[in-house]
Amino acid sequence: MSKKLKKRIKRVAIGAAVYIVAVLFQTLFGELPWFCHLPLFLAAYVIIGGDVVKNALRNIGRGQVFDENFLMMIATVGAFFVGDYPEAVAVMLFYQVGECFQSYAVGKSRKSITALMDIRPDYANVLRDGDWTEVEPDEVLVGECIMVRPGERIPLDGVIEKGSSSLDTMALTGESAPRDVAEGDEVISGCVNKNGVLEVKVSKPYGESTVARILDLVENASSKKAKAENFITKFAKYYTPVVVICAALLAVLPPVVLGGGWSDWIYRALSFLVISCPCALVISIPLSFFGGLGGASKEGILIKGSNYLETLADTEVVVMDKTGTLTKGNFAVSKVVLSENVGNTGIVAVKPEDISVAAKSDDETMGREERMQAVLLQLAAYAESYSNHPISKSLLAAYGREVDVSLIQDAQEIPGHGVAVKVGNREILAGNEKLLASRDISFEQADEAGTLIYIGEDNRYLGYILIEDEIKKDAEKAIRDLKASGVKKIVMLTGDHEKVAAKVAENLSLTDYYAELLPGDKVSKVEELFTEKPEKGKLAFVGDGINDAPVLARADIGIAMGGLGSDAAIEAADVVIMTDEPSKIARAMKISRKTLAIVKQNIVFAIGIKVLVLLLAAAGMASMWAAVFADVGVAVIAILNAMRALRA
Ligand code: ADP
Ligand code: MG
Repeated sequence: MSKKLKKRIKRVAIGAAVYIVAVLFQTLFGELPWFCHLPLFLAAYVIIGGDVVKNALRNIGRGQVFDENFLMMIATVGAFFVGDYPEAVAVMLFYQVGECFQSYAVGKSRKSITALMDIRPDYANVLRDGDWTEVEPDEVLVGECIMVRPGERIPLDGVIEKGSSSLDTMALTGESAPRDVAEGDEVISGCVNKNGVLEVKVSKPYGESTVARILDLVENASSKKAKAENFITKFAKYYTPVVVICAALLAVLPPVVLGGGWSDWIYRALSFLVISCPCALVISIPLSFFGGLGGASKEGILIKGSNYLETLADTEVVVMDKTGTLTKGNFAVSKVVLSENVGNTGIVAVKPEDISVAAKSDDETMGREERMQAVLLQLAAYAESYSNHPISKSLLAAYGREVDVSLIQDAQEIPGHGVAVKVGNREILAGNEKLLASRDISFEQADEAGTLIYIGEDNRYLGYILIEDEIKKDAEKAIRDLKASGVKKIVMLTGDHEKVAAKVAENLSLTDYYAELLPGDKVSKVEELFTEKPEKGKLAFVGDGINDAPVLARADIGIAMGGLGSDAAIEAADVVIMTDEPSKIARAMKISRKTLAIVKQNIVFAIGIKVLVLLLAAAGMASMWAAVFADVGVAVIAILNAMRALRA
């Protein structure tokens, strides 16, 4: 609880004590003249509600007349004037109790979100001039070496130079199982180092680190308002003046028209004002959205704004990328096949010593064919060395040796086709049929049930590498959950071969799939799906951000998977799923629906009760006591309801 809130509670409690004394005094001594009771009640009033009156006057001075402070001030001051001292103070007392509760609730949910987002590192231990020095994380330069002791948070992204440990990624991904890391592994900032001492070579400045990006994203999320939030802000702006005018009419018109009974009508008008306070809505709606965003991020789902909660809740068509989204994106090399071209001339290795080392260490009797296969894999690795594509990473891993990038003069990535590099005076190509066809290289089309990477050198076709991906364990559940949550259509788009696509689509029972698409084709396919879907339902695209950023941006809502590390994805997407589990998509939708349901409940409940009590008050059937209960009670219930959103 904040100090400010504690002080406020203390003050209200003292005021309440004075109020009780005043009421006792009045009950004991009965009908004494007004100047005997008034000072005590007035004292209680000033202690309890002095700040409300002060705020009201200050806001009037600023030209913002109609707010809840104003409503409370005229209602209570009015009650004093008509002689209802105890009620005047009681209304203020209940209002303050409600306010205290509100700020407690808001503070609490804010805290639970920031606690969960408490991934900001305080310092970094950097090696400078042979000594470890503690500095601010943003003072560390790329390439410097930092030390992370057990129990410390990793301050910057980098690669482990020394040591091994397991990392707690809970705060980032919501995943509870620790991740084992060792020398050469990439680590991301925000994780907690659990056991070993690690020395990490920093690969990104703090501003571009995972932590900084995530914090940025979370901090900006509440500025993107949902429609319901904007509605409430506008509503409150017009609502209060309207209520004040109604109250004034209620106080003046009936006595003038019907004659007499001024104080009764003034009393009704004052009750009317008390009830009309819109705080239940004004506080609980943003709080619900905030809770929804927080609840989602607890599970490793970062949603960039409340507006996306609304879109997610209405999603009916889900379009998914294959590689890295439904499949692991971890291709295993299952075959290396040489072209007949290679027969007599052979292939020249980029670095022959690497291959002969391999031949010696693995097998003395490596035959010519095997040596040529090793050379083909080496060429592929050199070709892929600058790309971030899952295929590249897999081929580099399969090659397993260092690529000497100083030998590469020029590297080109052609999205949806493959890669081309210049090594010495040769050009080496790695990619699909489209790539070779675009260079007019003739080749034999292979008939294999996996992804084929054709390798070319200048105008010559050298052979292909067959790589195979696995469907993610979680993918089946993901599709099942999506269907169960009312998604009508699940479509897979891929740049991969028809055969591979068909197999995945059938295994997962997708509604539909389209294969051999270039990144641009994916956009036009999504356009097509837009025209087919019902007006109201939204279309979501899920990808890994590699080669599909344009589609992520074009869809009603772009969801990026495995956000840890992939920069393009974090930029282009509206929702970032930090783990690589596609089942989190259905989860995100469920959280959104729950949040929206809570918002709707609160709007209907708060407005419903208010209208009812307003009518009763106008008819003289609700006392100011009922009024204040209606106001504070509704606010408290709405806030408690809003806090449910946090517990997804
Ligand atoms: P996906 O829809 O599977 O994510 P992409 O659009 O990323 O597909 O790539 C489509 C196809 O283009 C791949 O299946 C592959 O044949 C080829 N390709 C793309 N990038 C590369 C690369 N870096 N190396 C080799 N082939 C690539
Ligand atoms: Mg892709």
